[in-house]
Amino acid sequence: MTNKELADLMYPSVTKTISDYENIYPERNIDDKAVVSRFAPSPTGFVHMGSLLASFVSNKAARDTNGIFYLRIEDTDGKRSVENGIEGIINDLKAFNIEIDEGAISDNEEVGNYGPYVQSKRIDIYNTFAKWLVENDCAYPCFCSEEDNNEIRSIQESKKDRIGYYGKYAKCRFLSNEERAEKIKNGEKFVLRLKSTGDFNKKVVINDLVRGNIEYPENDIDHILIKSDGVPVYHFAHVVDDHLMRTTHVTRGEEWLPSTPLHIELFKKFGFKVPKYCHLGLVMKVDEEGVRRKLSKRKDPEAAVSYYHEKGIPVEAVKLYLMTIANSNFEGWMDSNPGKSIDEFKFDFKKMSKSGSLFDIEKLLNISRNYISRLTARELYENTLKWASEFDKEFYEILTKYKDYSINIFNIEREQKKPRKDYEAYSSIKSQVWYMYEELFNDNLEYNFDKISAKDEIKNILSEYIKLYDENDDKDTWFNKIKEVADILGYASDMKAYKENPDNYKGNVADIATVIRVVLTTSRVTPDLYAIMKLLGKNRIINRFNKF
Ligand code: GLU
Repeated sequence: MTNKELADLMYPSVTKTISDYENIYPERNIDDKAVVSRFAPSPTGFVHMGSLLASFVSNKAARDTNGIFYLRIEDTDGKRSVENGIEGIINDLKAFNIEIDEGAISDNEEVGNYGPYVQSKRIDIYNTFAKWLVENDCAYPCFCSEEDNNEIRSIQESKKDRIGYYGKYAKCRFLSNEERAEKIKNGEKFVLRLKSTGDFNKKVVINDLVRGNIEYPENDIDHILIKSDGVPVYHFAHVVDDHLMRTTHVTRGEEWLPSTPLHIELFKKFGFKVPKYCHLGLVMKVDEEGVRRKLSKRKDPEAAVSYYHEKGIPVEAVKLYLMTIANSNFEGWMDSNPGKSIDEFKFDFKKMSKSGSLFDIEKLLNISRNYISRLTARELYENTLKWASEFDKEFYEILTKYKDYSINIFNIEREQKKPRKDYEAYSSIKSQVWYMYEELFNDNLEYNFDKISAKDEIKNILSEYIKLYDENDDKDTWFNKIKEVADILGYASDMKAYKENPDNYKGNVADIATVIRVVLTTSRVTPDLYAIMKLLGKNRIINRFNKF
């Protein structure tokens, strides 16, 4: 019985050939240097920070070269799939403005000429390629049961031999086609195995863009390519898909590095060009005990990209941070190109860390703080409003009701050379400006006075001060009036005099200013008090004095 006859028996429904598919999915008509890259997650419903980084850099590599970036859903492993798992991924990518040119755009729609982009919809394609392998003596059906495999394993263990289905241990390799056909006709279940021609004692060189040349022993394991239920395994599907989708750069986690010799063997068996590999290191963090470990979606809230959305950390800040961990020269580039957009930076796989990237949330928040500090008051208002519409209804209503007032609040010490850096996220704004709004200034106030905390003394200060206060005063006049109160009540209005003879005074002008600040805001630390008072206006000020 010929291989062709066996292949027909194994794959009776296959009507196309590989060359049909080569015609359906022709070479892409793009520049030689253009990168075709992809993000190929399982439909788990969300994107982890590590895969966000991976999709971010593959997208960037494609953008930098006018290439193509597409989304392929790898749903052949049922355990890793959840219902509506595609949409969650699409939303996470969208939230970070990582645009796809092709691929799934919802749980059941897609765009692009190289699809289907969901592996479970590509079974006919895989079968066509599998059939070709059988016909060409590169794969065979294997009927071994779990017990058979366990038996092989225990023989290997007792002989201290390498574990796996290979060489003389690959029992089903030695069946004749007649025996195979007989079993298939009897309805015996089978998996498809690669008939490896690799030699474990020879080396294969993986030319990895991130890691340089890495040597591995050639693959000689007759790996399973298609399971008994007809579903392909990742190794096989990846080769078929990345070839037909004309992928130039396979960017994926370093956990796939050891299987790459198998992938290379498969590409070569088909006579296909091996794509460029970019194996990305893990995203790690240093935990509370000082131990460096993988950023874990179970233990670390910052591992889920939804965290940034909920906290209101600007997408741009996260992207800036991702680029700083992706390419070590990015920060320097930013410093020497102030005001330039990340789009103008040329990303380079070779400058990625081989040992993984350390994810430092504090550094990210710092970048976020800087980023937010450079927004105009109006931009900050719009962004905060958008965030609040989803996550803080109360603040949303207040911001909507007092639009201009809020913009003025946001503008305190902003839009200047060295703006304040108070906010690390949109979610941290309300807790720093709440006292500007009467609605929020109502209940259970806790005043944080400093040196002067006696009620009577505070009352004296307030009543002297209100006699002098005029909301039209300029900043100098305003401050002189606080000094006047100091003089009247026995505090030093001049700091130098105070420092020379502190015992001559009850305190100094700063203590008076603090009392006014705390009565108006409850807090000892606020932005410019003059600006705050200007915005509050005389009525609110009097009300707050009275309330106290
Ligand atoms: N589905 C694989 C994963 O999630 C994709 C690896 C690849 O990008 O090829 O790890």
